[in-house]
Amino acid sequence: MIIWPPVPMSFCKPIAAPVVTHSPIGASSFWRILNCPGSRWAGAGIERPPLEAAEFGTLAHDVAAAAARFAFFFATKEPVYPDNESRLIATWWVGVLAAIWDSLLPDMRKMGIEESFSMADLHPLAHGTADAWIYDLLCEILYVPDLKTGRGHVVEVEEASGYHQTMYYAVGVCRKYGYRPREIHLIIAQPRAFHPEGAVRTKVVTLEELEEFERLIVSASEATDDPMAPLNAGEWCHFCPAAPTCPRLREQAEQMIALSAQFDVATLGQYLDKLPQLKSKISALESFAYSQATKGIKIPGWMLANKRGTRVWTETDEKVIEMLELFFGLTREQILKEPEVKSPTQIELLLTSDQVKDLAESGLIDTKINGTVLVPRSAKKTEVLPKLDALSVFTKRAHIPYNKETSK
Ligand code: SF4
Repeated sequence: MIIWPPVPMSFCKPIAAPVVTHSPIGASSFWRILNCPGSRWAGAGIERPPLEAAEFGTLAHDVAAAAARFAFFFATKEPVYPDNESRLIATWWVGVLAAIWDSLLPDMRKMGIEESFSMADLHPLAHGTADAWIYDLLCEILYVPDLKTGRGHVVEVEEASGYHQTMYYAVGVCRKYGYRPREIHLIIAQPRAFHPEGAVRTKVVTLEELEEFERLIVSASEATDDPMAPLNAGEWCHFCPAAPTCPRLREQAEQMIALSAQFDVATLGQYLDKLPQLKSKISALESFAYSQATKGIKIPGWMLANKRGTRVWTETDEKVIEMLELFFGLTREQILKEPEVKSPTQIELLLTSDQVKDLAESGLIDTKINGTVLVPRSAKKTEVLPKLDALSVFTKRAHIPYNKETSK
């Protein structure tokens, strides 16, 4: 981990940062503890098994940070890329930062990569590490880009964890360097998950909003100090370490199951709202049970078993080709696959942002719609009317009983 000294910063001589442990109420947890202050204690000491996606995310983040240091600070060695995907993400991330950095006057810009900050005067556990920040001294604009490597969970910059995490970093950076920007550009950069507004999403906030958020950090952090702080289930449960054992989440799941036989259209919507929490509970329970089993703990009625195996060649490609030709009479055409064209998303990762725009306008890409999906009305999507035939229009009232309110 590298940190640059306070103003005036030297970009040539990075120094080692003090070791800072992960805060249970820091930037990435802030949206959760704001809504569920008791989660600090409910999740204490619970070790959730590292999910494959989380492991990849940590690796991709480290590689992206190393690539950014190499690109902007020239003081470190070129990173070793463990795989092609993390190399693509790292290259793309450097491009995102360069798009901001290169637009600023060379003597009027500052930058930090993977830089730690402490706000111990606000709360002893208020600290964190921002993926990156860039400050435009001329226009007094602070840019706070945050790299998200997941592809299943789309992170919004306008709300929820994406907004709260980048605001937290912005407060930390401003306090560390005494910046008082006119504008703060919160940026979520998420190359692997589709979003209608693109892979890089920005929200601009003012200094007043940032100051308000600083007060929120104090009040929300202090609210977690009480070991009896309340638990409150919601979308924020998704990455909560307490999810496998949380009594509030369990209660909610049990209520939903008990009432599921009494659905009407009005309550159906309310239950759908709560489904993400139920799914969080289920996946957290599965991963928790798996980690227990891998530690040798016997779970009645369950056992560890191998996943379905994949057959692989035991020799190098050249050797396999040689053997198949020699002993099985196959030709190279029969043995080798045609190379495939990569997906539009994979190709976009190889292009500059201007080229991505050109590609979008080239007519070379079309979006094939594979059916419809039920989403909350708050989702940034356009409503699609179902194609109803005469029989289903006639019978639809028979499928789900309308209650008095909704049938008016
Ligand atoms: S699982 Fe949800 S309700 Fe339970 S502690 Fe975590 S955030 Fe709070």
